[in-house]
Amino acid sequence: MSFLQEDQDDMSNLLRVEWTIIPQIPPQPWLDCSACSAPKPFECSGKARLNANGKKLDAWLIYECSACSKTWNRPIFERRSIGDIDAKTLQALQSNDPTWIRARAFDLVALRRRTRRIGEFDDADVRKVVLSMTPVWSAVEINLVVPMLASIRVDKLIASEFGLSRNRVQSLWAASALRSDTDGRDMLRRRVRTGARLVLDVVELNDRVSIEMAACGR
Ligand SMILES: [Zn+2]
Repeated sequence: MSFLQEDQDDMSNLLRVEWTIIPQIPPQPWLDCSACSAPKPFECSGKARLNANGKKLDAWLIYECSACSKTWNRPIFERRSIGDIDAKTLQALQSNDPTWIRARAFDLVALRRRTRRIGEFDDADVRKVVLSMTPVWSAVEINLVVPMLASIRVDKLIASEFGLSRNRVQSLWAASALRSDTDGRDMLRRRVRTGARLVLDVVELNDRVSIEMAACGR
């Protein structure tokens, strides 16, 4: 990093914001649907099922074929003793707790153990909070928080939130008008992640207002 860039990233010149990225559509496993006689993407139904077999419990997350609604039960656990399951998990399963189910539905690592082909979506809701702001800021510092796995790439996030083309995002990055001190050169192509930080300079003074609105979500 050059001396000039360090100077530009001085806290006193920054509008600092935190963006929390909330993915909208859970990943969809592609499975051979026996009713369709073809591989189809299965959608999470948002429902779980708990089944008692003697003193053992099974729990599944229910998926439905996107074409015919045939169901697939994705095991969460099988043949587990009641005593081995914590009270919170049991309560969540019994009440179909949407927050708990959402966390399972977005657990791509667990889903990969069940199927190879998985459809991912990069639709995301972005919740924006201003961390600090100085009267004369010349750059925006964006701090990312990603509570559950989100598939959206950094370049697409920046492009869509600031209303820029991906080419424009690339050229800002190449010119270091968009940069990061937390991630490497290939950051734009990677998924968003918690702890990633970007700085975007205000290149044209006329853009300051629109950049502020986009950064702060106003
Ligand atoms: Zn089907």
